Order: sequence, then C-alpha cells, then structure tokens
Amino acid sequence: MDNPYVSMWQELGLDLAAHDALLNVLGKTYTDFFLTQKNRPDGMGYFDFVMSEVHGLRIKELLDEKSAGRKIIGSYCVFVPEEIVLAANATLVGLCSGADFAMEAVERLLPRNTCALIKSSFGFKLGKVCPYLESADMVVGENTCDGKKKAYETLGSLVNNLYVMDLPQVKSEQGRVLLRAEYDRFKTTLEALTGVAVTAESLKTTIRTVNAKRAAIHRLSSLRKADPAPISGMDALLANQVFFYDNPERFTTSVNKICDELERRIAEEKGVFPAKTPRVLISGCPQAVPNWKLPYIVETSGAVIVGEESCVGERGTRNLTEETGDTVEAMMEAVVDRYFKVDCAIFTPNPERTAHIEEMAKDYNADGVIHYGLQFCQPYLMESFPVERALEEKNIPTLRIETDYGMEDVGQLKTRIEAFIEQLR
Ligand code: SF4
Ligand code: SF4
Repeated sequence: MDNPYVSMWQELGLDLAAHDALLNVLGKTYTDFFLTQKNRPDGMGYFDFVMSEVHGLRIKELLDEKSAGRKIIGSYCVFVPEEIVLAANATLVGLCSGADFAMEAVERLLPRNTCALIKSSFGFKLGKVCPYLESADMVVGENTCDGKKKAYETLGSLVNNLYVMDLPQVKSEQGRVLLRAEYDRFKTTLEALTGVAVTAESLKTTIRTVNAKRAAIHRLSSLRKADPAPISGMDALLANQVFFYDNPERFTTSVNKICDELERRIAEEKGVFPAKTPRVLISGCPQAVPNWKLPYIVETSGAVIVGEESCVGERGTRNLTEETGDTVEAMMEAVVDRYFKVDCAIFTPNPERTAHIEEMAKDYNADGVIHYGLQFCQPYLMESFPVERALEEKNIPTLRIETDYGMEDVGQLKTRIEAFIEQLR
C-alpha cells in the first residue's frame, strides 16, 4: 500500500529517498531493540504506536494545528520554556539529533571534532530528513556549550527563522537576571510571531499542563524504584523521549495509564528482569531519539537501568513550576525559578549536579552509575572526572563511557559494561 504521508513529506521539502533510508533504519533498530524485549508492559503499545507514526500522524497533527493558526517552535534544549510557548498559542517540539546523517556535508561546515549531537542537528537539516524541523515556524537555539553557540552562527543561514536565546553560565544573581530578561524577550518574540498575547489566564493553564506532564513522568520514575523493576530502562527512556514530541495532554494520560499498570505489576512482584538484577543509573549527555545504543548494551548485558540523570530524563523534568501566581509577572518569575535549577554541565561551578546524581543513585537503589559522555562534549566529559571521584568516595561504583553515535565501538563497550556489571553483582 502506498504511504499516505508521501505528499505531506514532499510538500515539506524532504528528500524522499534519504528520508526513506532513515525510516528504514529507524524502524529496524526499533524492532530489534524494543520489540524483542521480554515482559513489556501492555501500555508500551501506545509508545510503539507513537514511534511508528513519529514522522506520520504526529506531523499531520502539527500541520493541522498550523492550518488552524498555531505556530510550531522547534528546540534543541530543555531551557526553552514550554509553558511560555503554549501560552502564546504555539506548540513546542524537540528536534531530536540522535543519529548520524549526511556526515560528509556536515563536516564541510563543522569541525570533525564536534559532538555527535550538534553534528546530527546539522545532518538532519542538510540531509532534508526531519519533518519536525521543516514544519517549525521558528527554531530556538541556545547559548549553552561553546559547540552549540558557535554552530548556531552557521545554522542561522540554513534554517528559516533561527532565534538564539542567551543563557547564563553561572548560578549567580546576575545569572538569574539574565535568564529572566531572556525569557521576557522570548515571550515578546513569540507573541509577535503568533499574534497572541500571553495572559495570566493562559499562562496559568499552560503551567498546569506542563506540570501535569512532568508529574506523570515523576510517577513513572518513582515506580522504577521497585525490585524487580516493572519497566525496562529502554522503555522508560522512550517515554522520556516522547515527552518532547507528543501532544502534552495525551502524553500525560498515556504515561499515567502505564503507571496504573506498573503499580499492579509491582503488587504482583512482576518485573521485566528477575529480582536482584544489578541496577544501573545513567548520567550525562542527553540521549535523543534514536540514540539507544548505550541502554541497549546495558540491558542486554545483565543489568537494568533504573534512572537517567539526563536532560532526556530527570535533569530535564525534575522540578515543577510553582502554580500559585496570579499575574503574568509572578508566573514568569516562577518559570524562571524552575528553569534556573536545571543543572546542565554548562554551569560553572556545578555542584548541584553531583549532588543530584548521588541522590538519584540512593533513591533508585542503583548499584552503580554509568557516566555517558559524548565524544568532544567538553562540559560533560570534563565534569565526568569530579563526578566519578565524588561517587567513588561514596562507594558508588562508576564507569565513565565516552562514545558517539557510530556502532563501531559496540563490541568494546559491551566488554567494558559486562565487566562493570559483573563487579556490581
Ligand atoms: S545538556 Fe545542557 S545544553 Fe543540552 S539540552 Fe540539557 S540543558 Fe540544554
Ligand atoms: S552533548 Fe555536550 S557538546 Fe554536545 S551539544 Fe550537548 S553540551 Fe554541547
């Protein structure tokens, strides 16, 4: 049967042959990595469906929203406040950047020793394979690491309407003032783009919508504390990844539904792996779709992943925005308060992150931590040394991994990870 979405992709300007190749790889990896797992919760059927339609139905929904007058905003970072985007009558989508694509063309614009995530964001644009990017009315870049902020100077000439948000690098009073000023500028820009002013009423509603989404993920995370683990780390990561694409209300309902099922499983002591399986926490760089290499290796090597200290995970979702404000001013302050707590490694110094990793290891009863650093990612690789020292001092075994999106190192990683898991037993 002909694919019903071909004309939609064509109209978005995608390179159909390249896009087909991407979907084939994505589909095959998904089948091999996810659908082969044993004892999956039934509720994962929803996420399987979302993934099968990630370039189809969800894009159609976004284009329908556009026809009805909403704007689509693409983002590469969890510092882009979804509350404000929604309140200005726009929809926020994460631009995933989790696979290598069109690398030859990318390396004509960026140095080879750029992290895979940044290269991927360029590859999806140059290869014309991302319908989210092509649907976006505005793409938000942020001045986080040096790699990203310099790359955006080049990306600006490749995408329509790139908006660059400045971000503080220090958690100081001045840093907070900068974040507030930048969120105000962002709100004004969105209002000009959509023609819709953010009101106290709309912002109150959207703060609640985004908090509900986060609360559902908090509930899911909390259920992963059980032994045997009621859901695999692969599936929990997938839910955290879908957080960035799905319709917010539908996502919240679907995650809560799976949580109901996980509660029943816990009561029946039913898990995805046997009780006493070594438990691992992953900490470090974000793992965007379809970057499933590390969790797949870990969970096929005899351990279960019980948490992600990551922007696609608890670093990105952990705090709620205070809901009590009644004016736009009070709610903007609450939004700034919430995001200013994100402990990305671009901040210096960044002791909160180490404290959070220790806290997570304890809360999720992790036997060890795997620090996941992308090659050439200076912030996270630099931070991995003090993090490892601090964890080892607390007798939490830690393994530092440095990798990229390629599959060449799978064998070597597996050997190291198996040895680490053996040590945890
Ligand atoms: S790791 Fe830092 S730069 Fe990357 S998404 Fe998270 S907050 Fe943004
Ligand atoms: S992984 Fe590291 S280098 Fe790459 S974009 Fe994120 S913070 Fe920057």
